[in-house]
Amino acid sequence: MPLAFLRWSVLLLLCLVASSALAGEAKVRRTKAKAKGTKLVRLKGGELLHHAAAAAFQRMSTEARAEGVSLRVTSGYRSRREQRWLYDRYRKGLGPKAARPGRSNHQRGLALDLVVGDVTTPTYDWLASNACRFGFRRTVQSEPWHWEYRPRTTRAPEAGQDCLGRDVGVETAPEPVANKDAS
Ligand SMILES: [Zn+2]
Repeated sequence: MPLAFLRWSVLLLLCLVASSALAGEAKVRRTKAKAKGTKLVRLKGGELLHHAAAAAFQRMSTEARAEGVSLRVTSGYRSRREQRWLYDRYRKGLGPKAARPGRSNHQRGLALDLVVGDVTTPTYDWLASNACRFGFRRTVQSEPWHWEYRPRTTRAPEAGQDCLGRDVGVETAPEPVANKDAS
């Protein structure tokens, strides 16, 4: 009888230790997530973005690809340290314009730099015509590559128009053509 009691005691003790250890681990995880503040998601190309911006970007990228435009991200989320490095380079005349640390939406994971070339390329035109439907818009006059996710203040186009207010022709399905040698 005392032996059985001892066994149960040991078992109970083990349970208590295990559960307190698990509780401790959960606590640590929560604290980490809170400290970070922003849930970041890694895009296919490797860049990180705020999870909501990443989801919107994935939808936009999929639609662009279906229309023959590939959207490549060269810079998404930046830590304060990365922003500081870019800003210092800019100040020394060694790199492109960069905002002062704390002043860039890249640090919130809400800004992304895309390979667009200039404002005359098909990629830029696609973005200018469509990005607003996904909550993205340009915010820096001199940087056609810099787009920010601002769904609350970005207006969706009127029905039948694109983001530039141009009429979007209703696409008519092409006449079916009989094709003998289908591949
Ligand atoms: Zn940027």
